[in-house]
Parts: sequence; structure tokens; C-alpha cells
Amino acid sequence: MSDWNNLDLFNPTEEHKMLRQMVREFTQSEVEPQAESFDRKEEFNLELFKKLGEIGLLGITVSDEFGGAGMDAMAAVIAHEELSVSDPGFCLAYLAHSMLCVNNLAVNGSQEQKQKYLPGLCSGELVGCMAMSEPHVGTDVMGMKTKAEKKDGGYNINGQKMWITNGVVDEKGTKADLVWLYAVTGVDEKGRSQLSTFLVDKSCDGYSVGQKIQDKTGMRGSNTAELVFENAFVEENALVGSEGSSMHHMMRNLEIERLTLAAMSLGIARRSIEVMIKYANEREAFGKPISVYGQIQKYISDSYAQYMASKCYVYEVARKLDLNKGGNRVDSDGVKLVATTMGKQVADNAIQVLGGYGYVGEYVVERLWRDAKLLEIGGGTLESHQKNITKDLSRNPEMVR
Ligand SMILES: Cc1cc2nc3c(=O)[nH]c(=O)nc-3n(C[C@H](O)[C@H](O)[C@H](O)COP(=O)(O)OP(=O)(O)OC[C@H]3O[C@@H](n4cnc5c(N)ncnc54)[C@H](O)[C@@H]3O)c2cc1C
Repeated sequence: MSDWNNLDLFNPTEEHKMLRQMVREFTQSEVEPQAESFDRKEEFNLELFKKLGEIGLLGITVSDEFGGAGMDAMAAVIAHEELSVSDPGFCLAYLAHSMLCVNNLAVNGSQEQKQKYLPGLCSGELVGCMAMSEPHVGTDVMGMKTKAEKKDGGYNINGQKMWITNGVVDEKGTKADLVWLYAVTGVDEKGRSQLSTFLVDKSCDGYSVGQKIQDKTGMRGSNTAELVFENAFVEENALVGSEGSSMHHMMRNLEIERLTLAAMSLGIARRSIEVMIKYANEREAFGKPISVYGQIQKYISDSYAQYMASKCYVYEVARKLDLNKGGNRVDSDGVKLVATTMGKQVADNAIQVLGGYGYVGEYVVERLWRDAKLLEIGGGTLESHQKNITKDLSRNPEMVR
């Protein structure tokens, strides 16, 4: 019965503990002070983003051979949780870059592709994004319309991508340096679309920004854009793997995407709980602090218990998730389903505990609540997680243990 009592589920090694401390300090000193104003302006803080490269976060899961920190899924979860305590919008831009583009490339790209892009992506010199969704297709990913046709030593890409985080990096409309793009290259014998993955460089003619999406409910500290591809020509070496291998790339990367989105909800919940406890002990009504009233206690206690339950599940999945393998779909969908609904509910509870003050920007929780909503949609809707989990458990009922 050796070391069980010393096991720290949330910081299993000294390295994880130090990482959490470092990101927490960075968040308090650099991220917190800018969060409210960038949300108000609806702008992405590119300068601050580049600083994440200086502290080794942009290539957190990438081998040091390519300039990364060589860490694991647990480390990625810690970074996303900590950044989201102050600014989930900024953290979403970090996730789109470091998980959706960079980790995808590190796991699925060729040596040549990795050497070409990863050092710049890890340092912050380059900003990356991932383009899967389209104006008419989100959940139904096989229905995408963007096409890549083989042509004289490369591919001609035509189509539109919608809702792309980091699709534009500033207010001048500057494009992301690298797009991890999914497109249709054919149909299989059953008539299903064959999807292939391409690395589209900023220098590619025919790749442009359609529009920066304005007036989002939350996540306003990250930019979201529509991308347009009009006869955008990429050379053959822009293809990742072989034609038709996107499903493999998507399935591997969606697991870390969903896990880190769930981790963002933990940060949102933690901050919301801190805010409501402090407020409930300071605010008086009918001559007593409101924390003595049972209904307020219910908000605080339910929030804490639900947060801790989600946190244990998220960290348990993080411990098991191998970035180079698939096979955790049930639980990566599971953590996102449970943690994102928890995060939104806890932020909502915090607003309720603060009454009118919860409804304005000064106390932060209204921003967290707006940001929390996106996590029930992006990276897979709640309904898509319900669909996947039920499908996988029906096929393999022994997974329920
Ligand atoms: C701020 C923001 C950032 C984003 N960032 C990115 C990004 O970086 N890259 C990217 O590729 N995409 C991104 N997205 C897109 C996001 O992943 C999609 O919005 C999401 O997958 C849902 O797709 P949709 O919006 O087309 O909704 P739809 O798929 O059209 O769904 C509409 C509704 O129908 C439901 N539904 C659909 N199919 C079923 C079904 N079979 N059973 C039951 N219900 C169903 C959905 O759950 C939802 O409630 C982002 C979106 C936002 C808002």
C-alpha cells in the first residue's frame, strides 16, 4: 500500500506541479489584466499569444527535436485549465493553435512537414488554425463540400470554411500562417466522401479570409473567421499522409481537443466558485452574510461538488490518453459532455449568487458564462457526444465497468 496516499491526481509528477505553478503565475500577471478589455474590443491579443511561445506552451506536446516542450495530455489539460481561470477566449485561440494545428501536425505529419513548420509554430513566429467546419456542415463532417482536385504536381482547392478560430490573427485581416485543412478528394466504393488533409501556407494564392465573424456571444478574445479557397493550389507535399487518411487524423486529434475543451470548463468553474464564495461571505442581506442562507449554500456546494466530480473524470482521462493513439472516444466525449455543462451551470450559479452584480462585467462571471456556452458547441456539440457515446457503448457494453 505504498504511495497511494501521496498520489496527487491533478499534479501526478513534479514536472506537472511546476508547470501548473508557472502557468498560474503567468495567468495572474499577464492574462488576467488584459482579459476584460480584449473581450470588450472583441480582439485577439497576438502579442500575448507570442509570449506563450517564450514559456514553452505553444508546442507543449511537441518533441524538443522540433522546439516543443515534449509533454503529455495531462500537461495540456493543466495549461488549458489554468489559462481559462482568467481568459477562456484567449485560451481558445491557444487551443486552436497548439492542439488543433500543432499537435495534429506533430502526431500525423511527415518528418519534412514537421521540420518545415513546427519550430515556427512552437516559438510563436507562426500562428496555426484547423479548418473542418463549413457554412452548411458542422456535425455532419462527411458532408463537407470543400474539394481538392489533383492537378499537375499538386492539388487545386475550392470551397469555404466557417467558424475557424485563428482564421484571422489581427484587425487588419491578416491570415493565419498555416491552415490544417480537411477537404474531399474523392468517394469510396460505398459512395462516401474520401477526406484528405492539407497544409495550406499563408503564401498560397487563392486562400483568403472571407470575413472575421463579429458579435459572438462569448470567446471574444479569440478571432473566428470564414476562409475562402478559390483555385488555391498546393503542391503534392502539402498532403498529410495519403489521400483518404483524414478520418484517422481527425479521430486521433478530436480526443485531445475534447479533453482540453473540457479542461477549459474546469478553469471557468474554479474561478466562478472562488468569486461566489467571496461574495457570499461579504454581501449581507437581512442583517447577515448571504452565505448563511440555505439556497445560497446550495449554489455554492452543488457547484463545488460538481466541479470536483468533473475534475476527477477529466484528469483520469488525461492520465490515460496517449497522444499517438486513438481509442478513448467514449471518455473524451464523456468528459466534454459532463464538464462543459457543469462549467456553464457553475458560472450561472455564480451570477445568481451575485444577483445584479453578477450580471455586469466587473465581477467576471458574466464573461465566463458567455464563454462557457461555446464549449457546449465547438469541438462537437453535446448532441454529437451523446450520439458517439451511445453508439460506442452499444457496440461494446463491457466498457461500462
Ligand atoms: C466560436 C467558434 C469557434 C469555432 N472554431 C472552429 C475551428 O477552429 N475549426 C472548425 O473546424 N470549426 C470550428 N467551430 C465550428 C464548430 O465545431 C461547429 O459549430 C460545431 O461542430 C457544430 O456545427 P454547426 O454549427 O454546423 O451545427 P450543426 O452541425 O448544423 O448542428 C445544429 C444542431 O443540430 C444538432 N445535430 C446535428 N446532427 C445531429 C444528429 N445526428 N443528432 C442530433 N442532433 C444533431 C447539433 O447538435 C446542433 O444542436 C467553431 C464554432 C464556433 C461558434
